[in-house]
Amino acid sequence: MIQQFSHIAPLQNYLAEKINEGQEFSFVPTMGNLHEGHLSLARESLKDSRNSFCVFSIFVNPKQFGPKEDFHNYPSTIEEDIVKLSSLSKEMKKDILLFYPDNQQEIFPEGFATSITVDGLSKILCGKQRKNHFKGVTTVVYRLLILLKPHRTYMGLKDFQQQFLIKKMVKDLLLSSEIISLPTIREKSNLAMSSRNNYLTPQEREGEALCLYNTMLRVKHALENSSLSLKEKISLFNDEKEKTLGPHSKWQYLELLDSETLKNITSKTKTAQIFGAYLCGKTRLIDNMTIYLNP
Ligand code: AMP
Repeated sequence: MIQQFSHIAPLQNYLAEKINEGQEFSFVPTMGNLHEGHLSLARESLKDSRNSFCVFSIFVNPKQFGPKEDFHNYPSTIEEDIVKLSSLSKEMKKDILLFYPDNQQEIFPEGFATSITVDGLSKILCGKQRKNHFKGVTTVVYRLLILLKPHRTYMGLKDFQQQFLIKKMVKDLLLSSEIISLPTIREKSNLAMSSRNNYLTPQEREGEALCLYNTMLRVKHALENSSLSLKEKISLFNDEKEKTLGPHSKWQYLELLDSETLKNITSKTKTAQIFGAYLCGKTRLIDNMTIYLNP
């Protein structure tokens, strides 16, 4: 069954009752316009017998959008989203509580003035182009974790930097929710599912948009299949990057970093992560892939 809450207080009362009964629950924060990537997080969380039910939030967080970004046009499909969540709840035979606040004050009350930033990590990769983006993300997730106190929170590796930052915030601020990261769900074409894919034309979707994934895959094969030294791998990557980015590029970045530290790779790096951001027409696409350097 799906139960809908548009205010935080009744949801908190409901959760308090369930916790009194000894139940535990999962949490999936999203901005809606649901696709299989979002649903996979809820589905996996409900497969865990420790989670009696799932709280699924849909909140388009104004704090994580820049002034020229798509906050006002962000796709909203609440009716369809509810249908998808209802059928998932039936499939999994567990309740989903949809938290869909009907105004921003439910999360950020009048006069709210505090923000949470993870220094350093929020300024690299996407943080370079999207200045206050991660500050907005960590602030809203902090609020939601404090308001709801979920036992486990599920996030997608599609937004690798985001889940990495949230894990760091949870550790640094001693929050109690366990953060569980799950794999990227892709279209048949391998395009990573994203609400922003709706902005793509059918031609872009089947063509140019795939160059992000295909480039990363080519670099992955080059780096994994070689018996090169670390220095040679780094130089191979830098050559590929220079070729790819070009002088008038639609690429915002292509980077190779240690998956565990998000710092430059070293001889100790076992798995690296290749990260890309690409402007396909007006649509900004991001993706990442794991590279096994020392199998
Ligand atoms: P969003 O609605 O874009 O803020 O995303 C909400 C959650 O869904 C985040 O944890 C994302 O990482 C996750 N997510 C988005 N797209 C995908 C995908 N293609 N595969 C897996 N998780 C995803």
